[in-house]
Amino acid sequence: MPRKHQSSPAASITSSRSTPEVVPRGGLRLFNTLTRTTEPIQSHTPGVIRMYTCGPTVYRYVHIGNLRTYLMADWIRRALEIDGQYHVEMVQNITDVGHMRQDALDRGEDKMIAAALAEGKTPHEIAGFYTDAFMADIARLGIHPASIYPRATNHVPQMIALIERLLASQHAYVSGGNVYFDVATFPAYGCLSGNYNGRALREAVRVETDPHKRHPNDFALWKAAEPGRMVKWESPWGSGFPGWHIECSAMAITYLGETFDIHTGAVDNIFPHHEDEIAQSEAATGKPFAHHWAHAQHLLADGVKMAKSTGNVYTLSDLIARGFTPGDFRYLCLTVHYRHRLNFTFTSLRAARNGLNHLRDRVMQLMNEADDILKSPAIATKFTMDNMQQWRTRFWSAIRADLGLPAALSTLWAMLAASELDARQKLMLIGEWDILLGLELLMTARSWPETSSAPEEVKALLRQRAKARKRKAYVRADMLRKRIRTLGFETRDTIDGAHVRPVFVPDALVGAISTPDQVPSLLDKPNIVDYSVLLYATFWPDDLRRCIESLLNSAEKVSLEILVVDAGANQSGLIWLTERSLEDNRIRVIRADHVMGEADARNVAIRQSRGKYCVVMDTSVELIGAIWEQLRQALCQPHVALAGAYGLITHDLRHFAESDGPDVDALQGYLMAFPRAAVRRVGLMDPRYRFYRNLDLDYSFTLRQKGRKKAATAPDRAVVVRLPVVRHEHRMWESLSKEERARQSKQNFDVFLRKWHHYTHLIDSSPAMIADNPNN
Ligand code: AMP
Ligand code: ZN
Repeated sequence: MPRKHQSSPAASITSSRSTPEVVPRGGLRLFNTLTRTTEPIQSHTPGVIRMYTCGPTVYRYVHIGNLRTYLMADWIRRALEIDGQYHVEMVQNITDVGHMRQDALDRGEDKMIAAALAEGKTPHEIAGFYTDAFMADIARLGIHPASIYPRATNHVPQMIALIERLLASQHAYVSGGNVYFDVATFPAYGCLSGNYNGRALREAVRVETDPHKRHPNDFALWKAAEPGRMVKWESPWGSGFPGWHIECSAMAITYLGETFDIHTGAVDNIFPHHEDEIAQSEAATGKPFAHHWAHAQHLLADGVKMAKSTGNVYTLSDLIARGFTPGDFRYLCLTVHYRHRLNFTFTSLRAARNGLNHLRDRVMQLMNEADDILKSPAIATKFTMDNMQQWRTRFWSAIRADLGLPAALSTLWAMLAASELDARQKLMLIGEWDILLGLELLMTARSWPETSSAPEEVKALLRQRAKARKRKAYVRADMLRKRIRTLGFETRDTIDGAHVRPVFVPDALVGAISTPDQVPSLLDKPNIVDYSVLLYATFWPDDLRRCIESLLNSAEKVSLEILVVDAGANQSGLIWLTERSLEDNRIRVIRADHVMGEADARNVAIRQSRGKYCVVMDTSVELIGAIWEQLRQALCQPHVALAGAYGLITHDLRHFAESDGPDVDALQGYLMAFPRAAVRRVGLMDPRYRFYRNLDLDYSFTLRQKGRKKAATAPDRAVVVRLPVVRHEHRMWESLSKEERARQSKQNFDVFLRKWHHYTHLIDSSPAMIADNPNN
C-alpha cells in the first residue's frame, strides 16, 4: 500500500512542540541462519539494503505457503524502510519454463501444463499466465513489489558466464555433456545447513547417484538436453539447460552485485538450494555472497508442509472463494512468528478474520470519536504526543527483535485499550504502525463497497436502520442489523453511512472443525453403547447412504452409534445426512470445513466415540446381515488386538496379499474393529497418512505392537472374521488417475516403511503365507 494513503484525519493535528521521533532510532535484528544468531542487519552501501528473495516457479499457481514466505520478506523490507534510513533494493526471481519436461508431461505429472500445451499454448505463454497470477496475488496481499523480477530464461548467458568462471578456476568439471560443481574444492560447503562433514551428505534427498559425478555431493550447473526437452539453449558444452541453483546466483550477482546484504526463502531452501548458491557464487567471485540469510518456517496444512506434491494446497483464490479476504490471511500470518510453523486451518483463518474485523470496527469508532473531539476545541488543546512515545518504543522494539510481529500485534491491541490515549492519538499510532503491518486499516475501515449489489429488501432494512440510529433508537437499530444478518448480510457503519456486504461463510461450514483436537476427546469417558461405527464422508453421497442404511437395518438388536465425519464436499449428501441424523439419533454428524487427511478424519471420530468397540468402515462397504456378535466374539479371544472382514499378509512389508486368515498381519480399513480402550494405550492414527492407503496397515501394526496388554514377547493378533458384507467399487481409488494413485500411495508407503521396517516379527502371521513363501 502506498504511504500516501496512510494519513488519518487525526494525523494533520500535530503538536506545536518539537516532534519526537515517530519511529525511534535503532535497527532491525534478525536471526541469521548462517551464523545461527540474531544479528543486526547491516548495509554495505550507504543508505541501501540489497535483498534477494527466491521467487515462484511459474507453471503452477503459488499457494499460501509460498505467500507466507513472501510476506515475511515484505515485512523485513518494510521494517528496514520504515524510518527512512534505508532504501531496499529487492530482487525476486521468476523460475519460468526452463525446467518443463516433455517426459514428465507424458507421464501425466503435470496435468494443467499438459492441457495447456494440448490447447496449443507455448511454454512461454503458460509461464506468462502464472506470472500474472502471481503478481495479482502479491498485489491483493499488499506485498510491495520488488525492484525487479528477473526471469530465469532471460539470463541464461549470465549463468553460462558464471559456469565458465567456475570451470576456469577448476571449481567445476565437464562430464557426460553436463557441468558439475566440484564440492571438494570448496571447503566451506555445508556452512549454511550444517549438512556436510567433508565426506558425505545426508542423502535424504537423493534417489540415485549420477554416474557422471566425481563425488555424490557434486551438483549440476548445466545439463545436456535429453531427447524431448522442450526448452533448451546452446552452450560451450552443447545444447542443454541450466541447473536450478545457478539461476539464483547469476541473477543475484547481476542485479545486486557479488556481495549483498540479505537473502531470504523458506527453510526447505536451506539445503540444497541455498547451500549450493553460496558454494558456486563464492567459489566464482572469491567474496562472501549474502551476509544475512533469513528463512521462514513452513506453513502446514493437516499437519504437514503445504506442497503441490502432497496435495494439501490452497491458493489465495481458494480462500477468497470461501469468503475470506487477502487481509484475513495477512492478519493470520501476523499472529505467528516467522520462525515458527504456521498450522493453517479454516478455523484459525476465521479467527483472523474476526480479529481484523474487530480492529476495523475499532478504527471506525475512533474516527467518529476523533471527529467529536475536533468539534470541541476545549478538548483539542489537551493533545500531546508525550504519552504516545512509550507505545512507540514498545511496538518498534517488538518488530526489531527478530521481527516480532505477534508481539507487535498484541501491542496494537493493548494500545487500543489504553486509557491515557485519546482517539486521535490512537489513530495516529495505528497509521504509523500500519505502514509496517500492511493491513490498510485506515483505508478499508472507510470503504465498504458492496452495498449497491445487495437485494432491495436488504437495502430497505438498511435505510430503516439508518433512520432508527438517527433517532438514537439503538435497540431497534440493532434488531434491524440482526434481521439483515439473517438475510445473509453483515452491516458496518462507516464515515459515509452504513453499508452491507454478504456474509460469505457457506452455511454448511458454520460450526465446522479443521483439526481433530477441536472436538473434545471422550476416550476416557465410560462406554455408553456397544459399537461406534466410524465413517468418513467425502464426495460420494450415494455410497454413504447405502452404507448407513445397511448399518441401521442390521442393528436392530444392538446398541450402536454411527459417527460420520463429513467433509461437506457434496451439498446433496449434506442435506440427506442432516435429515437422516435428525430422524435417527444413532447418527451423529461432525462437520469438517475441508477435505481432511484420512487419518485426521478418522481421529475426529475416534475421539468422539463412546462405544465399547470402534468399527472403522469405508462407505464402499454394505452390510447384508448382522456382524456384531461375530466381531465381538473375535475380539474377546486371547491376544486379539483387532478383527475385521478383510485381511492382508506380507513377507517383506512391500508386497501384500489378501488373506482369509484367520490370522493375518493386518486388517484393511474397509471394516476393522478394535476395543476403544486400546486407543488410550496406543494413541490415535498417524496424521501423516493423508491418503487412506497403508493407514490401515499402520494402525493394525500399532494396535498389535503397542496395544499388548502385558509386555509379552509376541505381538497381539489380527484376525479375519467371515462377515455378511459386500464391498462395492472404491470410488476414491477409481476417481484417481494412474499417476495420482502411484504418487499418493508412494507417499504413504514411504512413511510406512520408514516406521516399520525393523518390526519383522509383526509379519508372516498367516501359516498359509509361510507355505506360499518361496523362501521357505
Ligand atoms: P517453490 O515454487 O516451490 O520454489 O517455492 C517458492 C518459495 O516458497 C520458496 O522460498 C519455498 O521455500 C517457499 N515454500 C514452499 N512451500 C512452502 C510452505 N509450505 N510454507 C512456506 N514456504 C514455502
Ligand atoms: Zn533461489
